[in-house]
Amino acid sequence: MKNADAKLLLLSTTSSYETRLFVEAAERLSIPLLFGTDRCHRLDDPWQDGALPLRFEEPEASAGVIVEQSRTQSIQAIVPLGDRAVRTAALACQALGLSHNPPSAAEACRNKFIARQRLQAAGLWVPPFARFSIYEDPRPRLDEMPFPCVLKPLSLSASQGVIRANGPEEFLAAFERIARLLRQPDIQVLREETLGELLVEGFIPGPEFALEGLLDHGRLRVLVLFDKPDPLEGPYFEETLYVTPSRLPEAKQREIIGAVEAAAKALTLCHGPIHAEVRLPADGPRVLEVAARAIGGLCSRAVRFQTGISLPELILRHAWGLPIEPVVREDAAAGVMMIPIPQAGIFHGVEGLEEARQVPGIEDIAITAKPAHPIVPLPEGASYLGFIFARDSSSEAVERALREAHGRLRFRIGPELPVV
Ligand code: ADP
Repeated sequence: MKNADAKLLLLSTTSSYETRLFVEAAERLSIPLLFGTDRCHRLDDPWQDGALPLRFEEPEASAGVIVEQSRTQSIQAIVPLGDRAVRTAALACQALGLSHNPPSAAEACRNKFIARQRLQAAGLWVPPFARFSIYEDPRPRLDEMPFPCVLKPLSLSASQGVIRANGPEEFLAAFERIARLLRQPDIQVLREETLGELLVEGFIPGPEFALEGLLDHGRLRVLVLFDKPDPLEGPYFEETLYVTPSRLPEAKQREIIGAVEAAAKALTLCHGPIHAEVRLPADGPRVLEVAARAIGGLCSRAVRFQTGISLPELILRHAWGLPIEPVVREDAAAGVMMIPIPQAGIFHGVEGLEEARQVPGIEDIAITAKPAHPIVPLPEGASYLGFIFARDSSSEAVERALREAHGRLRFRIGPELPVV
């Protein structure tokens, strides 16, 4: 039984679209929320909503702030949104005796090198991999690189800074480009310990899939398996389309689920949502990563369960200890397109929204880029112009609708004015 004044602590960063979805879900479930955020480091309560000011790059100190708060305010569950808050949540949960992932699992999910080491130590397949510092000269190690390979910052996400290199020249260009990105002030401000490091690993061919799951004391419930029907061959890896149910044969789906289960176990993930990315070359599924969070941005709107509940609701119910059986996805096929940024510049708006919304199957189009603001494509950027959502009778129809709607949109992007 919970205290009458018990709260669920939602940890989120400044730019989280997701926060709103979780707040709405908490309202529907009558779960009282407390917020913890790193949106402002200097003021105590900048938004006057009682949010705890935290620094997710200092998880021990942030967990300490939460524990201190719990002396006057009963905190019965903690839900981190996005990758950056995961370690803080794990440490605070451990200190407060709440069910969660062990802090070491959270650490592996924030560090691609540690994750690869853990999978390897557990005897699971991993591509050849190596860690570099952006401050070293990579040339002496070029001979050891597993071309084609992928270079990626250790602690960024959303494919930011992820670049494929087919040979030494491309490698050096990619290395330089990532080094430049990691030195930018808006990245430096994240102050992650591993900010100057990158992982290089062998390129894994084949189609890609994403699995949403919920771990309950070590048991994996598969919520959704998404196909990513756009080929992701590089040199940059824009997510674009997610469509479910998967069109893979059952047996292949089971192989993917088995690979994710084994990887989650190797990373000692055991409680809460997971989002896994998997490639499927001819010789079997290869796990790219398992994150200790749900699918990001507004994408969770593409997931709905038969009882009508949403993914944020399911995650909150689980964290709050409410019953969640049965977890069966709705009958309709569903999908989302993360609208890629085609070029750098100033975003001036979009035309054709009404025509795009008329496409049968299209449920909603959310443009999240702000007019008159600069936009940056991958690999330096980490955001999208917006999201298109579709529901229809089949995955084929959903994919068609998303492509058709996207084709009807015309984005107005102007050049950035030169600094005089
Ligand atoms: P992030 O955490 O930034 O999303 P990922 O490791 O998931 O980083 O990589 C982002 C995308 O880059 C993946 O979804 C995949 O398309 C591509 N990618 C990353 N590593 C590899 C690899 N070893 N082989 C093939 N593609 C890769």
